[in-house]
Amino acid sequence: MNEEGMSEDGVIKLLEEARSMDIDYRRVFSSMCTIPHPIAVKAYNMFIASNAGDPGIFKGTKKLEEETIELIGDLLHKRDAYGYVSTGGTESNLQAIRMARNIKKRRRPNFVVSEMGHFSFEKAGDILGVETRRADVKEDLTVDINSVEELIDENTIGIVGIAGTTEFGQIDPIDELSKLALNEDLFLHIDAAFGGFVIPFLKKKYPFDFDLEGVSSISIDPHKMGMSVIPAGGLLVRRKEDLMDLEVDTPYLSSKSQYTLSGTRSGAAIAAVYAVLKYLGRKGLKKIVGRCLDLTNELVDRMRKFDVHPVGEPKMNVLALNVPNLDAVFKELWRKGWCVSMTRRPRALRLVIMPHIDGAIIEEFSNDLGEMISNIV
Ligand code: PLP
Repeated sequence: MNEEGMSEDGVIKLLEEARSMDIDYRRVFSSMCTIPHPIAVKAYNMFIASNAGDPGIFKGTKKLEEETIELIGDLLHKRDAYGYVSTGGTESNLQAIRMARNIKKRRRPNFVVSEMGHFSFEKAGDILGVETRRADVKEDLTVDINSVEELIDENTIGIVGIAGTTEFGQIDPIDELSKLALNEDLFLHIDAAFGGFVIPFLKKKYPFDFDLEGVSSISIDPHKMGMSVIPAGGLLVRRKEDLMDLEVDTPYLSSKSQYTLSGTRSGAAIAAVYAVLKYLGRKGLKKIVGRCLDLTNELVDRMRKFDVHPVGEPKMNVLALNVPNLDAVFKELWRKGWCVSMTRRPRALRLVIMPHIDGAIIEEFSNDLGEMISNIV
């Protein structure tokens, strides 16, 4: 570090240089994040110094967080749910497994999640000393309930359902998992980090939330389809006592205890989530989802003309395309400045059609992809 500080202009120049190396979202199909809504940015800046981890000082932020959880709870059919604004899906998933572990108290605990579950469950298992058991999926890439049942034993603390898988955007049969959880007296966590702000607005109804009696907790990320500022996740819990199982004493703070993972927490992120939900309301969120789905369908239609078809029926704005000569096409797409990713099993081209994508980009991308396929194959 320099002894003397730099001029503001000098620092800004350094920042601009770094930012120019970041790819702007326009051609990004690989990310589940997007450009935040302007109201989120305004709210974020207003609360830039707020620490939600010190609620005795930041009383207004605490109130916003409570109201935010109520708004999200309402969307998930439980207005009086408990929870907090986390840093994202990884933290929410980790905390949910921690809750299950603390409640069930098994000697060698394990939990069961679909092989399609996000890699954050590996982290959670590793950090918490809980074995992560991966269940098979059916042909439609949703979890096979028989496989889940087979993996459950006397040391199982909980099961996980995925409402919107990272790779294929598929939705596990959460109603069946809910019945199983009730029968086996297990904690059921739903990872709706992506799907939480999508599924409520789909024409077809998929039961996935607190409406199902067996659902204990839900991850839902405002920094994905909730148009908020990174980092903003949500962990919602049905029973207060489950959340309280995470509590530790906080002797030198303005509050007595904490159930959150981080101590110091961004009040700005909370304000941003609150602002977007209040500003857009259900109608606004639905419109954003509807637009993403229309563009997804348009992309599917355009690719069918090149005899390229989706893997399974897309349920939301996550699309896996069966592309011939995938590795070569993938490389060529990146060379042309398209940010795309691949699924693991089955291998396919993975595209997430987020709100920053528009009709012109869909046209340009599908033309490029179609041309590449014709040339490479
Ligand atoms: N769960 C699902 C279904 C996801 O798709 C993701 C990320 O894409 C996560 C969890 C992890 O979320 P984060 O990256 O915000 O920690």
